[in-house]
Amino acid sequence: AETWDSVPLAPPDSIFKLTATYKSDTFPQKVNLGVGAYRDDDNKPWVLPVVKKVNEILLNDPAVDHEYLPITGLPEYTAAAAKLILGADSPAIKEERVVSVQTISGTGANHLGALFLSRFYQWDGPKQVYLSDPTWINHFAIFRNVGIEPLTYPYYDPKTIGLDYTGFIGSLESATPRSVFLIHACAHNPTGVDPTKDQWKKIADVVLEKKHYVFFDSAYQGFASGDLDNDAWAVRYFVERGVPLLICQSFAKNAGLYGERVGALHVVPPSKDAANRIKSQLSVLQRSEISNPPAYGARLVSLILNDPALFEEWKRDIRTMAGRIIDMRKELHELLTEKFKTPGNWDHIINQIGMFSFTGISTDQSLALTEKAHIYLTTNGRISMAGLNSHNVHYFAENLDKVVR
Ligand code: PMP
Repeated sequence: AETWDSVPLAPPDSIFKLTATYKSDTFPQKVNLGVGAYRDDDNKPWVLPVVKKVNEILLNDPAVDHEYLPITGLPEYTAAAAKLILGADSPAIKEERVVSVQTISGTGANHLGALFLSRFYQWDGPKQVYLSDPTWINHFAIFRNVGIEPLTYPYYDPKTIGLDYTGFIGSLESATPRSVFLIHACAHNPTGVDPTKDQWKKIADVVLEKKHYVFFDSAYQGFASGDLDNDAWAVRYFVERGVPLLICQSFAKNAGLYGERVGALHVVPPSKDAANRIKSQLSVLQRSEISNPPAYGARLVSLILNDPALFEEWKRDIRTMAGRIIDMRKELHELLTEKFKTPGNWDHIINQIGMFSFTGISTDQSLALTEKAHIYLTTNGRISMAGLNSHNVHYFAENLDKVVR
């Protein structure tokens, strides 16, 4: 037998496969609502004006070289990134107990966070993590890769196309104390359904009571409401309440730096002493995994975050993206309810938040959209709102109406 005979053929990644099928489709009115990447009103990738500007600055800076960054990344980047998510006047930052490590975007932050917990969390029983049902599909593989078994907690209620709040609280209450819960910080992927502030407060109460550990995944800060502080509310509230937690942060979406892989892991322990020990171990892990993170994207983000004028420009760019998405939600909702009088309630389209919307349509209806109308979406009925624009939203609404009738 040949050496590699025992290697089974793995299926292609479904979301990247969907993009490839879309690209090879020659139908002029085709629509891609699969991948969660921002597109402008002409369906083009958008380089943020502020990113163009800092790009120029970097390219013309004679002091820029191609040396290695430190193991934990560019210090002025990680410090500013921590302030961005935790708030500039965060008590945890003041008390010097935030450990920040630059990672390979949000995926790398999830991986490093999971690896760290796998090695160092004081597990009372088997290594397990609770993931929302549903969640970003990659969470499962990321935790399995480091020997942590994924379990799920109820999150989405198909009957209301909203949050299964009772189910969520129920599983926080019934999980063994000190369990690890992965929670999306804002703009939940794939549902677009976030808890309200009152619900967050109650979630924090139960988390504290049961001494659970919160693994926050923050991949969309700014994308939910268009406001960076607003979208960090839950994280900051949990820190203020003293919930033990870590945060995975990505600049892929909010800075449009998908391919540059700019992210960070922030661990927030109760003391500076614990922070120092955690940082030393994260450095050891990082060294063996990637040695040190890539420099370019972190330099771009660092320039934006550390310059007040550029920071304001970035906020404007974020409002442009979030605003266009919110406009598309309104337009789609109006077309369905007023123009086509599509059967059913479509209010969730405007109530959901962020890049994605869970339409509530079935697998068969999702497949029919692709087969009959060349509209590409995942079979769970999730659509990326960023794939809609003023030129195709009517075509999409018309065909959605047809498949649900
Ligand atoms: N977490 C969630 C919930 C996401 O949706 C994504 C992007 N799809 C990520 C993390 C990580 O993305 P990236 O590695 O590109 O930052």
